[in-house]
Amino acid sequence: MLDPSRPSVLIVEDDATIQALLSAVLGNEWNVKTATDGKSALKLATEYVPDIVLLDIGLPDLNGLEVCRQLKANPRLGQVPVIFLTARTSGEDEIDGLQAGGIDYITKPINPAVLKARIRNHLELKQNRDELMRLARTDGLTGLYNRRTFDDLLQREWRRLARTGEAMSVIMMDVDHFKLYNDTYGHGGGDLCLQAVARAAEGALQRPADIVARYGGEEFVALLPDTKLEGALAVAEAIRAAIAALEMPHSASKTAPHVTLSLGVACAVPQPEQNPAELLVMADQQLYVAKTEGRNRVKGINAATASK
Ligand code: GH3
Ligand code: MG
Ligand code: MG
Ligand code: MG
Repeated sequence: MLDPSRPSVLIVEDDATIQALLSAVLGNEWNVKTATDGKSALKLATEYVPDIVLLDIGLPDLNGLEVCRQLKANPRLGQVPVIFLTARTSGEDEIDGLQAGGIDYITKPINPAVLKARIRNHLELKQNRDELMRLARTDGLTGLYNRRTFDDLLQREWRRLARTGEAMSVIMMDVDHFKLYNDTYGHGGGDLCLQAVARAAEGALQRPADIVARYGGEEFVALLPDTKLEGALAVAEAIRAAIAALEMPHSASKTAPHVTLSLGVACAVPQPEQNPAELLVMADQQLYVAKTEGRNRVKGINAATASK
């Protein structure tokens, strides 16, 4: 039985005896997938994204070093540790393996206890690395993506949409009278409010590709790829309504007896020579308009209309 909570090991080995031995030894601790040549190893790795790869160097088609280079060049697989398994014992082969991106090198005949101990070490290091990466990408209070991650995703989506010619929308949002909220309910109460706002905003997004991030303080931002202004206005309104529906009391607010959000939307068809920062500035201007017109509302603009 495959237990999805167990880490997965991809064993790439063309010798049937060694393959069977490794599967038996490792199978009681990890989920094991096996491949006997380089091409099917790359295919399996792409499909399953294993937690670690044991890679024989002498394979019938591609050389193991080449398989490793291809794994390392793949953005989704580049972080997966690769341990080389080989009968070769010269120091030069070891250097080749490490230069190709391998993290460790084990020579046959394999000592199962040593192999398992090394796999455990590398899996633990990988988990620590993954956790650090996650912390660097998210905001500690809300668990949403942080501003840096948002800016990275914005750049990436901008370039992608500049190729496909589809529209992109962004929504800037800001909690209304939040200074007064903190003054009334304390900073701890304010933090809880921001967490609730984050959950509600996230829950109001409709497509898997849509993302919301904490942009700073009590400001959030959403990125909606392949979305025209009309659709983005509908999403913004859904977020506004979701926050209002929480009915979190805000006795000092001059807008409503509960917590409200103002939102500014901007939409553009990305052009390769342009910078998405302009789109954020336009969304921020719309947010400002929403604030001055009374808060707890959505304002939006098409970049194309604005520049004419
Ligand atoms: P407006 O309706 O015009 O947006 O008014 P506002 O009071 O929301 O705007 P202002 O920018 O004056 O105040 C933002 C407040 O958000 C001030 C700041 O102390 C608070 N804040 C920023 N980050 C955090 C946080 O992480 N936790 C808490 N509790 N408060 C925060
Ligand atoms: Mg071999
Ligand atoms: Mg603000
Ligand atoms: Mg505010």
